[in-house]
Amino acid sequence: MTAQTVQQGDLVTVIGLEVHVQLETDTKIFCGCSTDQTDEPNENVCPVCLGLPGALPVLNEGAVEAAVKIGKAIDADIPEETRFHRKNYYYPDLPKNFQITQYDEPICADGDLEISVEGERRTVTIERAHLEEDPGSLQHVGGGGGIDSADYTLVNYNRAGTPLMEVVTAPDFRSPGEVRAFLAELEEVLEYLGVFDAERDGSLRIDANLSIIPEDEIESDDVTEIGEEALAAANRTEVKNISSHKGAEKALAYEETRQKNAIQRGRAVEQETRHWDESRGITVSMRSKEEEKDYRYFEEADLPPLRVSHWKDEISIPELPSARRERFQDEYTLSEEAASKLTSTKQVADFYEDVAQEFDPDLAATWVADNLLGELNYRDMEITGIESRLDEVTRLVELVATDEITAKNARETVLRSMLDDGRTPDEVVAEEGLGKTGEDEVQQAVVEAIDENPDAVADYESGDDGAINFLVGQVMQKTGGSADPGDVNQLLRAELND
Ligand SMILES: [Zn+2]
Repeated sequence: MTAQTVQQGDLVTVIGLEVHVQLETDTKIFCGCSTDQTDEPNENVCPVCLGLPGALPVLNEGAVEAAVKIGKAIDADIPEETRFHRKNYYYPDLPKNFQITQYDEPICADGDLEISVEGERRTVTIERAHLEEDPGSLQHVGGGGGIDSADYTLVNYNRAGTPLMEVVTAPDFRSPGEVRAFLAELEEVLEYLGVFDAERDGSLRIDANLSIIPEDEIESDDVTEIGEEALAAANRTEVKNISSHKGAEKALAYEETRQKNAIQRGRAVEQETRHWDESRGITVSMRSKEEEKDYRYFEEADLPPLRVSHWKDEISIPELPSARRERFQDEYTLSEEAASKLTSTKQVADFYEDVAQEFDPDLAATWVADNLLGELNYRDMEITGIESRLDEVTRLVELVATDEITAKNARETVLRSMLDDGRTPDEVVAEEGLGKTGEDEVQQAVVEAIDENPDAVADYESGDDGAINFLVGQVMQKTGGSADPGDVNQLLRAELND
């Protein structure tokens, strides 16, 4: 693309993704080594994943099952038969000098995933999703410590052979924010399927292609359709080393600005691979990218073709986040926002349903979506961190539902104490004296407050309605804050208007 042709008109951002998902299996994809993340380097290795001569791969059934589940969840075509290929390249993280992957017959093709962008539903096409093995990991040591500045590099093959699903989207994204929404939805689906562990280091790794195309070169009126010609004409960069939703949004926002600036200043954008440097918040130019022909793909003769047709019927998948969101809105009459929060992970959704069925759906929504998730989020915690204490949260909701403590005390004192110092709700209520004061006691305090504050009473009686607030404060003080301020207000008025 020459700079002269793009001076006019708006610039459109076009992004496509390759998402590498580590599948949660006990053992690696082609050998029996554990997939545990261990501190000791090169501990979980064997002749197969070290690529020693003569060692033969044996396909892990669990990885295929996970792939079929993903295929069903994204409504992809799963063929009768699928094959493995060798992708050849020379790099120290790859002991065999080739990666076993899939090429022209992937296990899933032509799927899609619906996302919500600023309240609107959009469908992202997933061109393919295929199985492959993870390479080892490199650690750059000394010097500047970076990929391009270290003194030397160590290699660890513990990760080599971990099963991966590579999910490839069409260039359907028009902004970094859409990419973030897609990754969040994809991660939710994977967690619901039980094939993925988000807590694991490096479990989701993203490569993104980004190009900037002048609006007047786009062939269709529909901005989501760019057209082959315009896409082929644009130079694109591939951004590697992205490992989170937030990272993806930041890296792509940086790259979008960098390319737009270059174009607006009349400079050409290089077609290249760039590395996202998370700590510096920038992308840097890397080795020039291999083209497909450089990989010399050929069929993996050590693995026979895999018949998957019968698995499609045998493997079932659970209710997915989008379906559960809709059901929550219908069944519990929740807003879309509340339903989204409550289905953000399977565990949150399961917990909400437990509480909603025991008490009241609205009360459960307030407690799980607002109070619990809000306080956890404030502490940078996930619900998995209090998995063993969910019964205590249920007990706290019960204390509110049965009117034993006020909602304010439950939220502001009991829940926070539970999370900060590990006490149970009953302990906090007893130790902080939060049990609701009996009606007689409140009535007694009302009478006392009126007797002790004749000036405020006189003000109220002469029409100063604000004076009631002073009296409410006095009663709250006498009852140690455990009375309901609304009730106190009514009791005072009843007493004064007698
Ligand atoms: Zn092994």
